[in-house]
Amino acid sequence: MDFTLNEEQKMLVDTIRTMGQREKFKELARHVDETGEFPYDLLNKYADLGLLGMTISAEHGGGGQPALNAILCIEELAKFSPMIAAPVFESNVGPVRVIDIFGTGEQKKTIVPGVCRGELSVSVCMTEPEAGSDLTALTTHADEDGDDYILNGRKCFITGGGHASHYMVYTRFGGVKGYKGIGGLLVEKGSPGFTFGKQEKFMGLRGMPSCDLIFDNVRVPKKNLVIAPGEFGKLMWTFDIERCGNASMCLGIAGGAFEEAKAYAMERKAFNRPICEFQAVQFMMADMAAKIDAARLLVYRAVSGAGQGLPSIYEASMAKSYANEMVVDVTNTAMQVFGGYGYSTEFPMERMYRDAKAWGVAGGTIQMLKIGIAGMIFGRRFDQRK
Ligand SMILES: Cc1cc2nc3c(=O)[nH]c(=O)nc-3n(C[C@H](O)[C@H](O)[C@H](O)COP(=O)(O)OP(=O)(O)OC[C@H]3O[C@@H](n4cnc5c(N)ncnc54)[C@H](O)[C@@H]3O)c2cc1C
Repeated sequence: MDFTLNEEQKMLVDTIRTMGQREKFKELARHVDETGEFPYDLLNKYADLGLLGMTISAEHGGGGQPALNAILCIEELAKFSPMIAAPVFESNVGPVRVIDIFGTGEQKKTIVPGVCRGELSVSVCMTEPEAGSDLTALTTHADEDGDDYILNGRKCFITGGGHASHYMVYTRFGGVKGYKGIGGLLVEKGSPGFTFGKQEKFMGLRGMPSCDLIFDNVRVPKKNLVIAPGEFGKLMWTFDIERCGNASMCLGIAGGAFEEAKAYAMERKAFNRPICEFQAVQFMMADMAAKIDAARLLVYRAVSGAGQGLPSIYEASMAKSYANEMVVDVTNTAMQVFGGYGYSTEFPMERMYRDAKAWGVAGGTIQMLKIGIAGMIFGRRFDQRK
């Protein structure tokens, strides 16, 4: 069993870290949180460095690299802020991967190279006001009309909402009940009848666009069908790579909080000694380090198994749910190391704590993932309706 990164991966992490210092990403993270303005300027920079679509197949303009390389970049960038890591997340583990893997030749040609250049982006649209964890209850529906589908319904909490160029919409086809009627349709921003609700105001992740999507008789060409109804499993399967991205955001946020707490513990004095000399503080640091490492091993295992394909659902669910709990725990402890200053907006700890909380809901709640893990442990599906 080899737990080491190869030379290329070490260099990648090093390059990102140096870029973050050179480009003052710590200050940028603070600015984004205070102003709520997403750092769109980063897209060009990341495209030039080949970070956008680095795991996407080379024939469509991607880097053709293993999934782990993107996960390492997301982790390193999220140490500054998840918003700074977001373009790498979206272009590597977001729904563009669904198109890269399952899309038609034309869909790939139209969307994928643009995402790799930072000109296009795709949002994943599953959640509805009455269908979150219970996704198969979704009511957005697409009805055939000649060469088109007519799409009606409403989605909520859609990351990138209003800003993304394309939307991968999970919808019901032809009134077929349950998961068998659900497939994925690509909808372009600007399509007549497609509008956006007001931007969400979240506790954290400030600057990350998110809003409702409203579909009122939107005409979508049949050629935009990415996943046919009945192939719902494919959608959920590809979603597992997104879950690994979610988990690597957690590794990054926790890693950033840990580094801040370590530096502070060596500098801050109490009783005329640096607080790192107190055993209680040492234990907090040791516990944080172990939890981050445990989560990292789970995430890297899930992603390494995936190579350039998809991770095991069991491993991805375990990695995500553990990392989701870990990041809240670690940022909370790191705040404690800072004492009163941890609670002040002058320091980054309270922002990191706010940013940590989202991941255990986004991409499927911790509870729903654990239900799935339990199903795999017991070798049976626990139907939540019965
Ligand atoms: C920051 C953020 C970004 C997001 N981005 C997107 C996005 O880009 N695209 C998208 O489609 N959605 C997105 N979402 C929505 C997210 O996927 C949903 O919020 C999530 O799936 C939970 O659905 P819900 O909010 O309706 O909660 P509910 O499903 O109403 O759940 C409420 C609570 O009940 C629990 N619960 C529900 N059923 C069970 C059960 N059977 N057993 C045990 N516990 C249960 C849940 O775990 C949760 O704690 C985002 C959410 C957030 C916060």
